[in-house]
Amino acid sequence: MSSNIRITRICQHCGNEFEARTTVTRCCSDRCAKQAYKARKRAEKVENSNKETIIVKSQPIEAIKAKEFLTVRDASKLLNCSRQTVYNLINAGNLKAVNIKLKKTLIKRSEVDKLFA
Ligand SMILES: [Zn+2]
Repeated sequence: MSSNIRITRICQHCGNEFEARTTVTRCCSDRCAKQAYKARKRAEKVENSNKETIIVKSQPIEAIKAKEFLTVRDASKLLNCSRQTVYNLINAGNLKAVNIKLKKTLIKRSEVDKLFA
């Protein structure tokens, strides 16, 4: 895309006018591009987190109780704690869980009950 063209553009990040050498350049400098990227990633994270919250909220606890095998998210809802706490319990050996595949941990419903035995 690089060529001899010169286009006056407005930086998406700082709003300053600059001369771009390609038609797809969005930021005036490497620094701005990096900051814009960071801001975008941050916004994505917040959005994903919000989506997750909605999913958890929309999942009634009764439906989780009826399941035989729980995800870490289910277990955290059931135990009224964070997912990290569930992972901590698993890592400490207090809660038996199985990694059926990478990033997919299942916990047997009865194992959660054993915590209180
Ligand atoms: Zn800029």
